[in-house]
Amino acid sequence: MAPLDIVQIPVLSDNYVYLAHDTASGATLVVDPAVAAPVVAAAEARGWRLTHILNTHHHGDHTGANLELKAAHGLTIVGAGHDAARIPGIDVRVGDGDSYDFAGHRAQVMAVPGHTTGHIAYYFADSDALFCGDTLFALGCGRVFEGTMDQMWRSLSALRALPDDTRVYCAHEYTQANARFALSVDGDNPALVQRAAEIDSLRAAGRPTVPSALGEEKRTNPFLRADDPALAAAVGLAAADPVAVFAEVRGLKDRF
Ligand code: ZN
Ligand code: FE
Repeated sequence: MAPLDIVQIPVLSDNYVYLAHDTASGATLVVDPAVAAPVVAAAEARGWRLTHILNTHHHGDHTGANLELKAAHGLTIVGAGHDAARIPGIDVRVGDGDSYDFAGHRAQVMAVPGHTTGHIAYYFADSDALFCGDTLFALGCGRVFEGTMDQMWRSLSALRALPDDTRVYCAHEYTQANARFALSVDGDNPALVQRAAEIDSLRAAGRPTVPSALGEEKRTNPFLRADDPALAAAVGLAAADPVAVFAEVRGLKDRF
């Protein structure tokens, strides 16, 4: 079976909505529709039929068009059963360890609490695609609004365990600002220095920095490296528990 055909749609100031299309059946899913019009336009331009919504979490910039798209196109909405009360129009409730079959493509559902308590991620191994919402960003991670630092570190560690060639389809273009912060805590990391320069050239050319490769995130994203002794030392917490290092780095970023 051919991998999913994935299209990235920039909306609002810095959100990405994704279409993932199965060529054999013509089914098309939308990940985190913040708004409807650009999503419908992108599907129509390709002659694709919208059939499903996958939500990662309840925030309005991820679920804003759920009801409008469902009313207009009869979409099936998939979201966290744990957070069903906050996912507008939810039809299919999924949770950690579930697989969801989309037109023969198996999505592995991972609970990744921290940004919100009900945040989930969808990993399509057959397409090397991870839809991780606001949990993992290119060179960053989401703010910890509802969960604990311990939960967020465990969530990021679970995502980190996926293969290096996984493409990280995160929900925001925050990478350039994330790079500036990352350099402030991990500026001696040559892979990070090189990546930050590449990000600057991409943005100068008006190009997206998303998706990134998970292997690159493992080498350069400080929020995936809280158990690296060099990073712990860089934030003055040599030999500390990774959760303490993660919490320190997250706190530094919140105040950056
Ligand atoms: Zn969010
Ligand atoms: Fe968001």
